[in-house]
Amino acid sequence: MSLDSITLYFIATMVAALLGAMLLFFGKQENDPALKWWGTAYLLGAASVAGWTLAGHMLTNMASLALNAVGFIACGMVWNASRVFHGRKPNLPGLVLGAIAWFATAMTLDPEDSALRLTIGAAIVAVYAALTATELWSERRKSLKRRWPAFAVPVLHGCVLMLPILLGDLLRPDEHFGNSVWVTVFSIELVLYAVGTVFVIFMLVSERTVTAHKNAASMDPLTGMLNRRGFSEACSRVIEREANAGRPVTVLIFDIDHFKGINDRFGHPAGDELLKLFSTIVMNNLRITDLSGRIGGEEFAALLPCSLEEGVLAAERVREAFEASGITCEEGPVDTTVSIGVAGGPAGTELEVLLASADTALYQAKRGGRNRVEAAEELPLSLEHWRRRTAGLKAPPRPSPATASP
Ligand code: GH3
Ligand code: MG
Ligand code: MG
Repeated sequence: MSLDSITLYFIATMVAALLGAMLLFFGKQENDPALKWWGTAYLLGAASVAGWTLAGHMLTNMASLALNAVGFIACGMVWNASRVFHGRKPNLPGLVLGAIAWFATAMTLDPEDSALRLTIGAAIVAVYAALTATELWSERRKSLKRRWPAFAVPVLHGCVLMLPILLGDLLRPDEHFGNSVWVTVFSIELVLYAVGTVFVIFMLVSERTVTAHKNAASMDPLTGMLNRRGFSEACSRVIEREANAGRPVTVLIFDIDHFKGINDRFGHPAGDELLKLFSTIVMNNLRITDLSGRIGGEEFAALLPCSLEEGVLAAERVREAFEASGITCEEGPVDTTVSIGVAGGPAGTELEVLLASADTALYQAKRGGRNRVEAAEELPLSLEHWRRRTAGLKAPPRPSPATASP
């Protein structure tokens, strides 16, 4: 089977143009600037290869250089697309540097030395491929994990491009490039690269969309804290980690006092502001290793990898800070108090159990007059145990921890 190089380049151009149009279409539809960069890069690349293949022999030296420069700008755009994809600014000097280097090379080199020209041209493309690969690689630990194809595709492209040219130069320095077997290899590689890159782009975009949806599903939009679902998921990981290390965990439930009255008196938007303020106070008064979330309307929870006694101290800190926040509205000062229930458990106690126990303590804090911290009187042992208890079965006696109140 013989492969005609013009036909091969024609197919490569068509494939690249089709993929470019597709990327642009999706970029517009999804309003994703990175996809628009990629799509435009493909279209420019296709135009450059098409012009070179169809009219290369008729072009003046300058026009052919300009056509090549368009190709290098297309490579620069692929690199910039990966920057934009990661939320970085496009690097405009870098975008045109390859084309400028190409012109400078062409002006200084002997026009007959086509092999050297091609080597330099391929080196420019390989540098852009390496930059693209580095860009995609450096972001690999940020939420997107299995992204080795994103790195491998441009690296392979750079290698395929450089190797034959270097080998061609070394092995057959006198052979004219246009007749070389590498033309066939290049055009096949071009098609594979174009298709492979689009596969990678869609893999990255879909992974990012899934991550965004997952984050949105576990976040509370008002306070930016974890919502009940996100809190619960994050807690199971911490509980497992602490259980493996044999360390205890403590859960805090916060319920803002008379919040309905605050809404009624100052309005719902003011209530929302107070919820935001409280979330900030919780986060500022807990450690970076503590987890916190908004688990209901005016109810918040936190999981601390510490003993019950330390948990009670942290709860006191939050209660005092909220009371001291001194918020005043046009209608007058706002009473900012919170009741907190605290429950601790030995390593491995399930979140469900800890929350139920902290809820009981919270109820006691409310009954005791509000604006106070109350610790669970009993240490929950396990979910099984708790279920047996709630089912009315007899449970063995457990030690009683300290209680704190202002
Ligand atoms: P207690 O001291 O017993 O906790 O009394 P409370 O008024 O805080 O408790 P209650 O459960 O009766 O009222 C909670 C109120 O929280 C009722 C609801 O309108 C309000 N709420 C729930 N979610 C939001 C929200 O997102 N924004 C605002 N502004 N209010 C909310
Ligand atoms: Mg409540
Ligand atoms: Mg309340």
